[in-house]
Amino acid sequence: MKIYFASGNEHKKKEIEKLFKGHRIVLPKEEGLEFDPVEDGTSFSENAEIKARALWNVVHAPTLSDDSGLSVDALSGRPGIYSARYGEKDGEKLPDGERNALLLKEMEGKENRSAHFVSSLYFIFDEDREYSVTEKVDGYLSYTPSGKNGFGYDPIFILSDLNRSMAELTEDEKNMYSHRAKSARMMNAIIKRLEEEL
Ligand code: IMP
Repeated sequence: MKIYFASGNEHKKKEIEKLFKGHRIVLPKEEGLEFDPVEDGTSFSENAEIKARALWNVVHAPTLSDDSGLSVDALSGRPGIYSARYGEKDGEKLPDGERNALLLKEMEGKENRSAHFVSSLYFIFDEDREYSVTEKVDGYLSYTPSGKNGFGYDPIFILSDLNRSMAELTEDEKNMYSHRAKSARMMNAIIKRLEEEL
């Protein structure tokens, strides 16, 4: 199935392509489409829905979106839905390394370092059918970054299940254990079911 992916993030696209193997994943910019919706929802799932609907309204074809981020218990769930914007100045996003350093600084002196990566996927199949899935993985923040793989907060998030930073995992490992891997497994089951009905 050709699936439009409501994102401009190449890292996410790469993961989504592996997680939704067998489908053709297309970013709006690859077809010259402008895509920059205002993500003003109050949860990951609301923002995922906003993104998917914005693109669906343009392409009227199967559309998938992912809204995701890092939620830190000692910071009452921040940066959460503002993960991409954490630390930004005058609308300018910080590079990943600087954003991670800023978060580690804000965590100085805090004993509870537990955190969660969350991924909400939203899939619009046609006018009548749309699906929302949210999954998370548990872990904690390290004191220093480690690992070179992945993107975003991966180098400072230690996955409890493996006791390694997300950036220390190989691509295949991340695609087995991550928040996005979990939500994609659920969404793939839904898509498979839809295809069986076609
Ligand atoms: P979104 O594009 O609005 O969903 O922003 C998500 C932001 O959360 C990204 O820019 C990253 O900073 C962070 N994030 C989401 N998923 C991951 C991940 O798998 N690893 C590391 N950071 C992530």
